[in-house]
Amino acid sequence: MAETIFSQIINRKLPAEIVYEDYLCLGFRDINPQAPVHILIIPKDPIPGMTAIMSENDRLLGHLLLVAKEIAVEEGVNDSGYRLVINSGRDAGQTVEHLHIHLLGGTTLGWPP
Ligand code: AMP
Repeated sequence: MAETIFSQIINRKLPAEIVYEDYLCLGFRDINPQAPVHILIIPKDPIPGMTAIMSENDRLLGHLLLVAKEIAVEEGVNDSGYRLVINSGRDAGQTVEHLHIHLLGGTTLGWPP
């Protein structure tokens, strides 16, 4: 299977502004930010998306949320508020087949999106 854009970022074949990295995941700024703070948090394991998630991914998924919280603190939006979004599939507008959490903040976010 061809590498996704995000796998290329993990493998340093594509540049990105990385704000967080550990052995399980990577956080980097979205190339087309929809808010003053727009970070993508991705597992290093190239899971295509929510449809591919299995029960054995429970630890990884918990880890991604804890990292999101850590990045929110680092980015200064933990107190003001932020939104975490996972787009799953066509109807949600998922464009990259590699699981990712959007962290959006730094402004008042409209709802519904
Ligand atoms: P989604 O629509 O949920 O699949 O989100 C994919 C996100 O990846 C979009 O917000 C894009 O702006 C972002 N994106 C695509 N290519 C890159 C890239 N090379 N570096 C950073 N973000 C990217």
